[in-house]
Amino acid sequence: MTLTTDLRFDQIRLPEECEALRREVRAFLAEEVDAGTFDPGQPEYGDAHDAEFSRRVAAKGWIGMTWPKKYGGGERSFLERYVVTEEFRVANAPVRLHFVADRQSGPILLKYAPEHIKMEVLPRICRGEVCFVIGMSEPGSGSDLFAAKTKATKTGNGWRVNGTKIWTSNAHIADYMIGLFRTSPPTKENRRHGLTQFLVDMKTPGIRVNPIYQMTGRHDFNEVVFEDVFVPDDHVLGEIDGAWKQATSELAYERSGPERFLETFYVLIELIRALGPSPDVRSAEGLGRLVAQLHTLRRMSVSVAGMLQAGQEPVVEGSIVKDLGTIWEQKLPGRVRELAAFLDPEATNRMTLEEQLAFAATIAPKLTIQGGTTEVLRGIIARGLGLR
Ligand SMILES: Cc1cc2nc3c(=O)[nH]c(=O)nc-3n(C[C@H](O)[C@H](O)[C@H](O)COP(=O)(O)OP(=O)(O)OC[C@H]3O[C@@H](n4cnc5c(N)ncnc54)[C@H](O)[C@@H]3O)c2cc1C
Repeated sequence: MTLTTDLRFDQIRLPEECEALRREVRAFLAEEVDAGTFDPGQPEYGDAHDAEFSRRVAAKGWIGMTWPKKYGGGERSFLERYVVTEEFRVANAPVRLHFVADRQSGPILLKYAPEHIKMEVLPRICRGEVCFVIGMSEPGSGSDLFAAKTKATKTGNGWRVNGTKIWTSNAHIADYMIGLFRTSPPTKENRRHGLTQFLVDMKTPGIRVNPIYQMTGRHDFNEVVFEDVFVPDDHVLGEIDGAWKQATSELAYERSGPERFLETFYVLIELIRALGPSPDVRSAEGLGRLVAQLHTLRRMSVSVAGMLQAGQEPVVEGSIVKDLGTIWEQKLPGRVRELAAFLDPEATNRMTLEEQLAFAATIAPKLTIQGGTTEVLRGIIARGLGLR
């Protein structure tokens, strides 16, 4: 067995301008916390949406940061965007309204939408006004996206969509979906043929959004039912029947960011606080191990951001970051609980830690499923390396 692909994680460091930006972001977040917008110690906020907050983030120029100025973007680097994403995630800031649009829907529109759609929609994303959702998974086709059955049938100057999407995060607050629909059957030679990406206005008649509740009791995702939903021709994104050629770059954006290993980070911070400046040897060793692992993950993730900046499509590297990162963040609450077991409840704020650990335990199972499961990512990595 031989490796046919070079696996590269270039030693990229964040440049100095990123650190100036980091200070600016931290000052902004501190002001928001002081004003009572959110509480970084309450992890639920990280999954929340707040339209006013999104607009203030937009006013700072932190949505669509890397996009061309003519569409409202900032023409800044992926590494600068990395810093903003990282700081917002660590602070548990309520970014849900604009996050998906900023991370992946906007870049798809930039690449594949007609010019007038770009001019209409991208500036609204940059102003923090619109929420996008990902319409890929269906009942019976989650990992295997190319088995999608929701059908778009050609009619006059557009398409009629019928079928059901599932696990659609934020569909109940969304303005647009980027939907993956079947426009032709697969061919014998290519089972991935026949799917097309569409921009769907979620207010179109015929769309029904049914809530699905998470283990935390929160309403984050949904079932979305399409019944004869009309989508105009100019909302087709890219090549008809050829979405499989487009999905790979989207997944590199979706899988490699710092949000893929920082979703339970707050328990590490609370542990450090609880252990104090002079932890015992066992705790120091355990903590050191966790921080070293986090540091390595971050270096790998920054490296992928550098590749995106260089115009590459680091699908294998992004999958590795997501696989290792989500396993790490999933195991983190358990490791923190072990290290905190011998802490003196009188001397520490054990209650905050306990509450955070309880919340982290309820979100941990989803971490290795959302954005592609561990097993599926490993299949992608093995294929990318020429091992299968
Ligand atoms: C919190 C959360 C948010 C989500 N948000 C969205 C969203 O906004 N939009 C959206 O479209 N989807 C969303 N999803 C769906 C998510 O992408 C799917 O759940 C995921 O891709 C797995 O698909 P599935 O649930 O159909 O499981 P299945 O694909 O049925 O997988 C079941 C099991 O079989 C394994 N398996 C499947 N295929 C293979 C294979 N080829 N090799 C080895 N093992 C395999 C999987 O690893 C898994 O353990 C979200 C999921 C979660 C948990």
